[in-house]
Amino acid sequence: MDKEEIIKSYNKIKDYYSKYLKDYGVKLPALYNKDGTFVKNALVLIKLYQGYPNTKIITKKELTQFIREFYPNTNNVQQAKNLGMQDGWYILSGTRGDSEIPKGSYQLKTLEKPHPGFCKKRREGYKGDFEEIKKQYGYRCATCGAKEGEEHYFRHGTIVKLQKGHMNPCKPLVDGNIIPQCQICNEPYKNRWIFDKTGRVIEVASSADGARIVKKFLKNSSEDIQRDIFNYLKNLMSKKR
Ligand SMILES: [Zn+2]
Repeated sequence: MDKEEIIKSYNKIKDYYSKYLKDYGVKLPALYNKDGTFVKNALVLIKLYQGYPNTKIITKKELTQFIREFYPNTNNVQQAKNLGMQDGWYILSGTRGDSEIPKGSYQLKTLEKPHPGFCKKRREGYKGDFEEIKKQYGYRCATCGAKEGEEHYFRHGTIVKLQKGHMNPCKPLVDGNIIPQCQICNEPYKNRWIFDKTGRVIEVASSADGARIVKKFLKNSSEDIQRDIFNYLKNLMSKKR
Protein backbone atom coordinates (compact mmCIF):
# COMPACT_ATOMS: atom_id res chain seq x y z
CA MET A 1 0.00 0.00 0.00
CA ASP A 2 1.53 3.34 -0.96
CA LYS A 3 1.26 6.64 0.89
CA GLU A 4 -1.45 7.98 -1.34
CA GLU A 5 -3.62 4.94 -0.78
CA ILE A 6 -3.15 5.23 2.97
CA ILE A 7 -4.23 8.85 2.99
CA LYS A 8 -7.22 8.05 0.78
CA SER A 9 -8.32 5.19 3.04
CA TYR A 10 -7.91 7.33 6.14
CA ASN A 11 -10.09 10.08 4.71
CA LYS A 12 -12.81 7.56 3.86
CA ILE A 13 -12.68 6.20 7.41
CA LYS A 14 -12.85 9.75 8.72
CA ASP A 15 -16.00 10.41 6.68
CA TYR A 16 -17.74 7.39 8.20
CA TYR A 17 -16.48 8.42 11.62
CA SER A 18 -17.95 11.92 11.38
CA LYS A 19 -21.24 10.60 10.08
CA TYR A 20 -21.82 7.59 12.33
CA LEU A 21 -19.34 7.25 15.17
CA LYS A 22 -18.24 10.60 16.51
CA ASP A 23 -21.38 11.24 18.54
CA TYR A 24 -20.85 7.96 20.37
CA GLY A 25 -17.44 9.04 21.59
CA VAL A 26 -15.52 6.61 19.37
CA LYS A 27 -11.88 7.63 19.26
CA LEU A 28 -10.40 8.41 15.84
CA PRO A 29 -6.61 8.09 15.83
CA ALA A 30 -4.66 10.88 14.15
CA LEU A 31 -2.98 9.92 10.87
CA TYR A 32 0.39 11.52 11.57
CA ASN A 33 2.72 11.70 14.52
CA LYS A 34 4.46 14.98 15.25
CA ASP A 35 7.51 13.83 13.26
CA GLY A 36 5.39 13.16 10.18
CA THR A 37 5.38 9.35 10.45
CA PHE A 38 2.09 7.46 10.42
CA VAL A 39 0.34 6.64 13.71
CA LYS A 40 0.26 2.86 14.29
CA ASN A 41 -3.40 2.81 15.34
CA ALA A 42 -4.35 4.58 12.13
CA LEU A 43 -2.35 2.09 10.06
CA VAL A 44 -4.08 -0.85 11.71
CA LEU A 45 -7.48 0.67 11.07
CA ILE A 46 -6.56 1.32 7.44
CA LYS A 47 -5.36 -2.25 6.96
CA LEU A 48 -8.62 -3.61 8.41
CA TYR A 49 -10.61 -1.20 6.25
CA GLN A 50 -9.29 -2.55 2.94
CA GLY A 51 -12.11 -3.77 0.70
CA TYR A 52 -14.79 -2.12 2.86
CA PRO A 53 -17.65 -2.99 3.21
CA ASN A 54 -16.43 -6.46 2.16
CA THR A 55 -13.58 -6.56 4.61
CA LYS A 56 -11.43 -9.65 5.09
CA ILE A 57 -10.39 -11.46 8.20
CA ILE A 58 -6.86 -10.30 8.96
CA THR A 59 -4.50 -12.34 11.11
CA LYS A 60 -2.28 -10.76 13.70
CA LYS A 61 0.69 -11.88 11.60
CA GLU A 62 -0.59 -10.02 8.55
CA LEU A 63 -1.16 -6.91 10.63
CA THR A 64 2.33 -7.11 12.07
CA GLN A 65 3.85 -7.53 8.60
CA PHE A 66 1.99 -4.49 7.39
CA ILE A 67 3.07 -2.33 10.32
CA ARG A 68 6.66 -3.49 9.78
CA GLU A 69 6.69 -1.77 6.40
CA PHE A 70 6.67 1.46 8.40
CA TYR A 71 8.10 0.34 11.73
CA PRO A 72 10.60 -2.46 10.99
CA ASN A 73 11.12 -3.33 14.66
CA THR A 74 7.49 -4.08 15.48
CA ASN A 75 6.85 -7.59 16.89
CA ASN A 76 3.49 -7.69 18.47
CA VAL A 77 0.65 -5.56 17.21
CA GLN A 78 -1.87 -5.00 20.00
CA GLN A 79 -3.61 -2.09 18.33
CA ALA A 80 -6.53 -3.97 16.82
CA LYS A 81 -7.64 -5.17 20.23
CA ASN A 82 -7.52 -1.68 21.74
CA LEU A 83 -9.29 -0.09 18.81
CA GLY A 84 -12.29 -2.32 19.54
CA MET A 85 -13.80 -2.22 23.03
CA GLN A 86 -11.51 0.54 24.26
CA ASP A 87 -11.81 3.04 21.40
CA GLY A 88 -15.18 1.87 20.09
CA TRP A 89 -14.47 0.62 16.55
CA TYR A 90 -16.58 -2.38 15.59
CA ILE A 91 -13.68 -4.77 15.11
CA LEU A 92 -14.34 -8.45 15.69
CA SER A 93 -11.60 -10.20 17.59
CA GLY A 94 -11.12 -13.96 17.51
CA THR A 95 -9.06 -13.71 20.65
CA ARG A 96 -11.82 -12.02 22.60
CA GLY A 97 -14.14 -14.81 21.56
CA ASP A 98 -16.17 -13.39 18.68
CA SER A 99 -17.11 -16.78 17.37
CA GLU A 100 -17.38 -15.77 13.71
CA ILE A 101 -13.63 -15.55 13.24
CA PRO A 102 -10.61 -17.65 14.24
CA LYS A 103 -8.45 -16.93 17.28
CA GLY A 104 -5.68 -14.41 16.73
CA SER A 105 -7.44 -12.62 13.89
CA TYR A 106 -9.53 -9.52 13.39
CA GLN A 107 -12.16 -8.15 11.08
CA LEU A 108 -13.69 -4.71 10.73
CA LYS A 109 -17.41 -5.41 10.84
CA THR A 110 -18.85 -1.98 10.04
CA LEU A 111 -18.08 1.74 10.22
CA GLU A 112 -21.72 2.63 10.70
CA LYS A 113 -22.03 1.47 14.29
CA PRO A 114 -19.74 1.53 17.29
CA HIS A 115 -18.62 -1.73 18.87
CA PRO A 116 -21.62 -3.16 20.76
CA GLY A 117 -19.49 -3.53 23.87
CA PHE A 118 -18.38 0.07 23.68
CA CYS A 119 -20.08 2.36 26.09
CA LYS A 120 -18.68 5.69 26.92
CA LYS A 121 -20.73 7.69 29.31
CA ARG A 122 -20.13 11.35 28.73
CA ARG A 123 -21.49 14.33 30.59
CA GLU A 124 -19.91 17.08 28.60
CA GLY A 125 -21.28 18.81 25.56
CA TYR A 126 -25.00 18.91 26.37
CA LYS A 127 -26.53 21.97 24.75
CA GLY A 128 -30.18 21.57 25.72
CA ASP A 129 -32.14 23.07 28.60
CA PHE A 130 -31.65 20.93 31.68
CA GLU A 131 -33.62 23.40 33.83
CA GLU A 132 -36.66 22.70 31.68
CA ILE A 133 -36.22 18.94 32.07
CA LYS A 134 -35.89 19.28 35.85
CA LYS A 135 -39.05 21.40 35.89
CA GLN A 136 -40.97 18.64 34.08
CA TYR A 137 -39.96 16.27 36.84
CA GLY A 138 -40.90 18.70 39.60
CA TYR A 139 -37.22 19.06 40.49
CA ARG A 140 -37.18 15.46 41.67
CA CYS A 141 -34.91 12.51 40.94
CA ALA A 142 -36.70 10.35 38.33
CA THR A 143 -35.58 7.19 40.09
CA CYS A 144 -36.04 7.84 43.82
CA GLY A 145 -38.06 11.05 43.94
CA ALA A 146 -35.62 13.02 46.09
CA LYS A 147 -36.09 16.76 45.71
CA GLU A 148 -33.34 19.09 44.61
CA GLY A 149 -31.85 21.29 47.32
CA GLU A 150 -33.36 19.26 50.18
CA GLU A 151 -31.63 16.77 52.41
CA HIS A 152 -31.81 13.33 50.82
CA TYR A 153 -34.49 11.30 52.57
CA PHE A 154 -32.40 8.18 53.05
CA ARG A 155 -28.88 9.55 52.80
CA HIS A 156 -28.92 11.93 55.72
CA GLY A 157 -26.60 14.90 55.52
CA THR A 158 -26.55 14.82 51.71
CA ILE A 159 -28.16 17.73 49.91
CA VAL A 160 -29.79 16.51 46.70
CA LYS A 161 -28.25 17.83 43.53
CA LEU A 162 -29.92 16.68 40.33
CA GLN A 163 -27.61 15.44 37.60
CA LYS A 164 -28.14 14.61 33.96
CA GLY A 165 -28.73 10.87 33.98
CA HIS A 166 -28.49 8.92 30.74
CA MET A 167 -31.53 6.80 29.96
CA ASN A 168 -29.22 4.76 27.74
CA PRO A 169 -25.63 5.18 28.92
CA CYS A 170 -24.32 4.01 25.55
CA LYS A 171 -26.03 6.84 23.68
CA PRO A 172 -25.02 10.48 23.63
CA LEU A 173 -26.35 12.89 26.22
CA VAL A 174 -29.02 14.63 24.14
CA ASP A 175 -32.70 15.48 24.68
CA GLY A 176 -34.74 12.29 24.79
CA ASN A 177 -31.90 10.45 26.51
CA ILE A 178 -31.85 12.47 29.74
CA ILE A 179 -33.63 12.08 33.04
CA PRO A 180 -32.80 14.03 36.17
CA GLN A 181 -31.24 11.77 38.78
CA CYS A 182 -29.87 12.60 42.20
CA GLN A 183 -26.20 12.03 42.80
CA ILE A 184 -27.00 8.85 44.72
CA CYS A 185 -29.04 7.24 41.95
CA ASN A 186 -26.89 8.43 39.06
CA GLU A 187 -23.60 6.99 40.25
CA PRO A 188 -24.00 3.31 41.12
CA TYR A 189 -25.84 2.44 37.91
CA LYS A 190 -22.85 3.52 35.84
CA ASN A 191 -22.90 1.92 32.38
CA ARG A 192 -24.99 -1.06 33.36
CA TRP A 193 -28.64 -0.36 32.73
CA ILE A 194 -31.05 1.38 30.42
CA PHE A 195 -33.86 3.43 32.02
CA ASP A 196 -37.30 4.50 30.87
CA LYS A 197 -38.56 8.05 31.26
CA THR A 198 -39.71 7.37 34.79
CA GLY A 199 -36.25 6.33 35.89
CA ARG A 200 -37.00 2.59 36.07
CA VAL A 201 -34.51 0.04 34.78
CA ILE A 202 -35.87 -1.65 31.65
CA GLU A 203 -32.87 -3.23 29.94
CA VAL A 204 -29.25 -4.25 30.32
CA ALA A 205 -26.91 -1.77 28.64
CA SER A 206 -24.91 -3.35 25.83
CA SER A 207 -21.64 -2.67 27.53
CA ALA A 208 -18.99 -4.87 29.07
CA ASP A 209 -20.13 -3.52 32.43
CA GLY A 210 -23.76 -4.42 31.68
CA ALA A 211 -22.84 -7.99 30.79
CA ARG A 212 -20.63 -8.30 33.84
CA ILE A 213 -23.28 -7.20 36.29
CA VAL A 214 -25.91 -9.55 34.87
CA LYS A 215 -23.50 -12.47 35.11
CA LYS A 216 -22.86 -11.51 38.71
CA PHE A 217 -26.60 -11.44 39.50
CA LEU A 218 -27.07 -14.82 37.87
CA LYS A 219 -24.14 -16.29 39.74
CA ASN A 220 -25.66 -15.13 43.03
CA SER A 221 -29.14 -16.44 42.18
CA SER A 222 -30.60 -19.80 43.12
CA GLU A 223 -30.06 -22.82 40.91
CA ASP A 224 -33.76 -22.86 39.99
CA ILE A 225 -33.50 -19.36 38.60
CA GLN A 226 -30.26 -20.17 36.82
CA ARG A 227 -31.79 -23.24 35.19
CA ASP A 228 -34.93 -21.33 34.23
CA ILE A 229 -32.92 -18.56 32.58
CA PHE A 230 -30.59 -21.05 30.92
CA ASN A 231 -33.55 -22.80 29.30
CA TYR A 232 -35.10 -19.50 28.33
CA LEU A 233 -31.93 -18.32 26.61
CA LYS A 234 -31.38 -21.68 24.94
CA ASN A 235 -34.86 -21.44 23.45
CA LEU A 236 -34.42 -17.84 22.43
CA MET A 237 -31.10 -18.49 20.73
CA SER A 238 -32.31 -21.58 18.87
CA LYS A 239 -35.14 -19.49 17.40
CA LYS A 240 -32.64 -16.91 16.21
CA ARG A 241 -30.54 -19.40 14.26
ZN1 LIG B 1 -32.40 9.44 43.37
